[in-house]
Amino acid sequence: MSSIAQRVETLHKLLHQYNYEYHVQDNPSVPDSEYDKLLHELIEIETKHPELKTADSPTVRVGGEAQSSFEKVNHDTPMLSLSNAFNEADLRKFDQRVRDAVGEVEYMCELKIDGLAVSLKYVDGKLVQGLTRGDGTTGEDITENLKTIYAIPLTLNKKISFEVRGEAYMPRQSFLKLNEAKAARDEQPFANPRNAAAGSLRQLDSKLAAARKLDIFLYSINDFTELDASTQSEALDELDELGFKTNHEREKVNTIDEVLEYIEKWTKQREQLPYDIDGIVIKVNHLEHQEEMGFTQKSPRWAIAYKFPAEEVITELLDIELSIGRTGVVTPTAILEPVRVAGTTVSRASLHNEDLIHDKDIRIGDSVVIKKAGDIIPEVVRVILDRRPEDAVTYHMPTHCPSCDHELVRIEGEVALRCINPKCQAQLVEGLIHFVSRQAMNIDGLGTKIIEQLYTHELIKDVADIFYLTKDDLLPLERMGEKKAQKLIDAIETSKGRSLENLLFGLGIRHLGVKASQVLAEKYETMDRLLTVTEDELVEIYDVGEKLAQSLVTYLENEDIRALIEKLKSKDVNMTFKGQKLSQVEGHPEFAGKTIVLTGKLHQMTRNEASNWLKLQGAKVTSSVTKSTDLVIAGEDAGSKLTKAETLGTMIWTEQDFIDKQNEINK
Ligand SMILES: [Zn+2]
Repeated sequence: MSSIAQRVETLHKLLHQYNYEYHVQDNPSVPDSEYDKLLHELIEIETKHPELKTADSPTVRVGGEAQSSFEKVNHDTPMLSLSNAFNEADLRKFDQRVRDAVGEVEYMCELKIDGLAVSLKYVDGKLVQGLTRGDGTTGEDITENLKTIYAIPLTLNKKISFEVRGEAYMPRQSFLKLNEAKAARDEQPFANPRNAAAGSLRQLDSKLAAARKLDIFLYSINDFTELDASTQSEALDELDELGFKTNHEREKVNTIDEVLEYIEKWTKQREQLPYDIDGIVIKVNHLEHQEEMGFTQKSPRWAIAYKFPAEEVITELLDIELSIGRTGVVTPTAILEPVRVAGTTVSRASLHNEDLIHDKDIRIGDSVVIKKAGDIIPEVVRVILDRRPEDAVTYHMPTHCPSCDHELVRIEGEVALRCINPKCQAQLVEGLIHFVSRQAMNIDGLGTKIIEQLYTHELIKDVADIFYLTKDDLLPLERMGEKKAQKLIDAIETSKGRSLENLLFGLGIRHLGVKASQVLAEKYETMDRLLTVTEDELVEIYDVGEKLAQSLVTYLENEDIRALIEKLKSKDVNMTFKGQKLSQVEGHPEFAGKTIVLTGKLHQMTRNEASNWLKLQGAKVTSSVTKSTDLVIAGEDAGSKLTKAETLGTMIWTEQDFIDKQNEINK
């Protein structure tokens, strides 16, 4: 071996050792400067002699070439999720099931790190692949990024082949520094360390990932045959010996009461940890017990994850503001003294309607408890009555619209108050915003701010006025340059060609959604034909209910609306159906043309299979829940998407609902 190759070998050895001492054992034997010096020596040698650079060289820690995408890779064995426990009763039930199955039992209690689950594959002691959990069946190959995590050994001190799983996370300190740096660059900060860790590991440029100072705890292996362990606790000890970083707050206990004590201790102490945890994982310790109990389709029967309750904080309710929607619904919003909840600052929370305000007895000036529903949407949980100031003000919804002063009405069967004045300014502005939105006329660049200005300057009073705008009208607006104005005029011109269903939807006719707009446009093909339809005709159509039929006919009979349509026509706005006919799409009417989101873990099929099946039925499968989503199919552990769907009132099916429907169709 040449002396250079020998030196490279020595450097590898020393750097691996120093790295391990520093990042895994937290007990460095040399100063950082020594590590840096040796690392630079190695980089220099590798630059001159690229043939000496190996896949496990310590220099890979600094990141390499940027990738264009991540490859999707199937997990050798699926990465299952654990079933959840939210309280003592859930845990005692779990304990009962365990003892019914195996008798006397030992439990391992481990902290549940709030990060990103990953899987590392070693062959002959060398790290060859690192995957994200993905949907549990298929993950993304993020090997290059994982190699930048110093606590992940590139080479083990034993030549074994196995897969080890753990949680990559961003320590709070790194997170705070990262967000400070982002703030300094006027960039949007990350909401919490978990998002930051996930974002970092999905950087295509591993040099960026390297700069993010991520860390990892390993906690499980699939195949014990390579190890000398017969319990979870021995497996963790052995991972330590192999050079992995495991979490040392773990405890082996003998009873469920001791499990509860462990949970109580960490519920109190979690804030003192240098990283975020979101619960406690409890596993039956003995492998033979685990094997005896086995798995359900979705998760191991021998383990459970206790989840901490959602974080709640107290703040002051400063005021209640009203917003008026496109359909005139008046929504009260709590204005809060800004406060941090679950990683973000919250200063507003919807109070939904007057009934809710009175049910919870919320008064202006109250101290209120805030939490985030599904960890996303802030909500006022309750008032702290002990802290109510004497001058707290009981809130009454106004009797008149704060925008147009028209009397508000409560429509029978609805909790919401509405302004029914068709000329109400707030509604008209919301209506204009709706008209230009993506699913409607899709006029890019015509945002809320511009519309508000145009409205106040009396340049637009109705949606047709948009097509009368000239560049000279736009130029005096705030932050409007020559180029931007021209782009906007071009976008307006392009939008004239939108198909009839987009125009119909954009008009904001009550009860008329995207789907029904499509159905009507396809059936009647022109606006002129639509203007002649009767209620009786309409209710015959699948997808059109009585409410919509009535609302549509009333709308189209209105003389002002007829004039508006003429005004649009005179500017050559398209009034015909141009889209693809749904009836021409192969598939089942139950799904054809619908926008569907799959979320959470499915057990009887993979998400991919479900998605492919839906596409065959003519559905569009998308990844985020929006107002235009027709259906959300929610599997186990569905998170924010489910919450969003609930908020928007989107139809939600369980996996079983979906399977039932499939069976019905496949019959
Ligand atoms: Zn009004």
